Order: sequence, then C-alpha cells, then structure tokens
Amino acid sequence: MNPNIAIEIERRKHLEMMDAFPMIAILQGALAALVLCVTVLNYGLSNQTVIWAGLFVCVISARYIVDRSLRPRIDTHSMHKSYWLTLLTTRSLIGFVWSLGSIWYIQLAPEHNLLSTTIWCTALAFAGTIFHINSISALQVYFWSLILPLVVYFSIGLERLFEAFILVLCGVIYVSLYTRILHNKAIKRIAEEIEKEQLIRQLSEANHSIKALAEQDALTELKNRTYFNQKIETVWQRSKEKRQDLCVILFDIDHFKPFNDNYGHVSGDKALRKVAKRLKAIDLEAEYSFFARVGGEEFVAVLPNTRLDKAISIAELIRFDIENAAIVHQYSSCADVITISAGVAISTSEQASSIIEMMEQADKALYLAKEGGRNQVAIFAPKEQPHLVELQVQPS
Ligand code: GH3
Ligand code: MG
Ligand code: MG
Repeated sequence: MNPNIAIEIERRKHLEMMDAFPMIAILQGALAALVLCVTVLNYGLSNQTVIWAGLFVCVISARYIVDRSLRPRIDTHSMHKSYWLTLLTTRSLIGFVWSLGSIWYIQLAPEHNLLSTTIWCTALAFAGTIFHINSISALQVYFWSLILPLVVYFSIGLERLFEAFILVLCGVIYVSLYTRILHNKAIKRIAEEIEKEQLIRQLSEANHSIKALAEQDALTELKNRTYFNQKIETVWQRSKEKRQDLCVILFDIDHFKPFNDNYGHVSGDKALRKVAKRLKAIDLEAEYSFFARVGGEEFVAVLPNTRLDKAISIAELIRFDIENAAIVHQYSSCADVITISAGVAISTSEQASSIIEMMEQADKALYLAKEGGRNQVAIFAPKEQPHLVELQVQPS
C-alpha cells in the first residue's frame, strides 16, 4: 500500500472514532441515567450509586477532553507512545467504570439481578466494541476492561467459575474473530473512501488542465480565440448589468509578413512569443480584464469597467512597450524594430451596440491606425461622434 494512504488511513481511523464520541457519550449517558433511576427507585439512594455516577461523569469527560486535545495531533505522529497511552487509558477507564457499576448492582440484589445484570453488562461490552472497530487496540482495551473485573468477581471463592469461563470464552471468540472481520471491513471502507477522493481530485485537476489547455494559445500561452469568444459574452453581459464601460483594444503586428519572409517562420514564432511575454507583464488593472491572441499576429485586450481615456493610455503603453522590446525588424517600413498598431473601441453603458459591432469598431480603428502609417493608436469614438474622429499618432 502507498505509504501516504497508510498514514491517511491511520489518521482517519482515529478521527472517526473521536468524532463519533459525542454521540456515544449521549447514548452511554442515557443508559447510565436509566440504570441509576432503576437502582434508586428499587434500592434507594446509596453512597455507591452516587460514587458511580460521579465516576461515570469523570471518565466520560476525561475521554472527551483527551480526544479534543489529541485530535489536532492525529498525523504521522499518531503512533507515538504517549498518544496511545492516553488514548487507551480513557477507553479502559470507561469500560472499567461500567464493570464496577455492574458488580455493585449485582451486590445490591445478588440473586434475582445476577442474570439480567450479567446480560446487559456483557451486551454493553460487546456492543461498545462497535464504536472502537477502527482500532483493534482501543477495542480490546475497552472490552477487557469491562469483562475482566466481572470475570474476577465471578471467580472469587470459585463460586461462579462457569459464568466466568463463558464470559472469557465468548470474549475471546468475539474479539479475536468477529471484530477482526469488522475491523478489516472498516479499514477497507476508509481506504476506498480515500482512493475515491483521490480519484475525484485527480479527475478535477485533469479537467482543470484540459480546460486551461483548451483556452490557451499553444504558441504564446496567452488566452486563445475560443476563450475570447466565450469570455467576451460574459464580460459584455456583466458590463451591461452594472452599467459600466467596456473597452477593447485590437492590435496587430506591423509588417509581420516581411518579417516571416525574411527571418523565417521559426524567428516569426519566437517574435510572437516575445511580444506575448511583454503583454503578460502589463497590468491591465481592471477586474476580469485579459489579453488574447485572436489571429496570427493579432491580439486583443479586453478591459471591463474601464473608461475610454484609460483604455487609450493602456493601448499606448502596449504600443510603446512592444516597440521598446527592440525585436529587430529591418524589413518594416515604419521602424527598424517590431511595432504594433492598435484600435480602441468602447461600449458605454448607454450604448446598446452588440459585441460584433464593438469589435467591428475596434477593427475600423485598427485599420485607420494602419492607414495612418502604423505604430500608432486610433480610436473609434462613442455615440456622440459615431465615426472615426481622431487618430492618435504617437510619435515614437
Ligand atoms: P500589416 O502591417 O498590414 O499587418 O502587415 P502584415 O504583414 O503584418 O500583415 P499580413 O496579414 O499580410 O501578414 C500577417 C503575417 O503573419 C502572415 C504570416 O506570415 C504571419 N503569421 C501569422 N500567424 C503566424 C504564426 O503563427 N507564426 C508565424 N511565424 N507567422 C505568422
Ligand atoms: Mg500585421
Ligand atoms: Mg493581421
């Protein structure tokens, strides 16, 4: 078995036992209250009854406190000696207190209570082991702490040796055979639970990476067109609902064909990766904003909740940054390095234009930037000036 799974099984075995204890304490408390009521009603209140009630409350509280303090330490150190000592002592004390109560009860009315007391005490011992089934040691300690004092009591004076013998025999058979089968089943169940959880985790991780891969452009590792198509819808809807401005910057590498033709396709890919790297380093600031590669050498920046002037300055920053990357391009007519042209468009909260319309506007602005000499930013202005009004020529 994988050592990590073995450690995890060990941890969960104890966690389950500890977590089940409050319910066990309630059940045992109810049983104890019943026994005490019957005792007091039949035989009156005696010192023994009061002492037993006190002892019972003490051992149940002790186990609760010990379990709570040990719980955070259940990990690889769970096999530590002191851990086991405290764990087993509390289980043993509870078993012993029940045994002591039974002996005292038998003593109150020896003859007619002997059989019934022996039966319920034995039932308590056998049934109680179910709550310790995750740990054979805890189970044994609880069981024998309950059974052995009774066995000793029956053996005193050799008066009830038969009862003592039957108790020991049943105990040995039960604990060594049946509970082991139950224990193995419990461990198998825990192991299966862990494996199932691991499988679900691996599946969800695989799902995540498949989704990420499907949304990522393989060459530049930017978001791809599929991602853009899906996300722009969401961003558009959100902007409309919140009545916020949404801007897009469409940008395209200038004279990239001659770059490829002269430096080769491999150098072209390298240049695209360099451009993408520069883009990734740019902080678009707005929540849900992103870059995507939407064509061969065409990119988009989506800027939700961004005013037009801010979008223009981001477009200019991108243009400036790519130019500053100084990727040599001797075959460009507008510079001796790789440059981009950008078109900015906006959908204001009042405008009812569609995504397609906004992208067409960005495209028109980009065309204008190209026409204007490239390596510049152009804007498609909103409704008050519904045509290309301004060409932001930014001298480099
Ligand atoms: P313009 O300034 O008008 O944009 O001119 P351009 O040469 O950049 O435009 P055009 O559309 O004529 O050429 C785009 C070129 O981009 C064509 C192709 O060689 C190159 N390209 C597109 N995708 C890739 C890619 O994935 N890798 C490489 N290396 N080149 C690509
Ligand atoms: Mg181009
Ligand atoms: Mg192009």
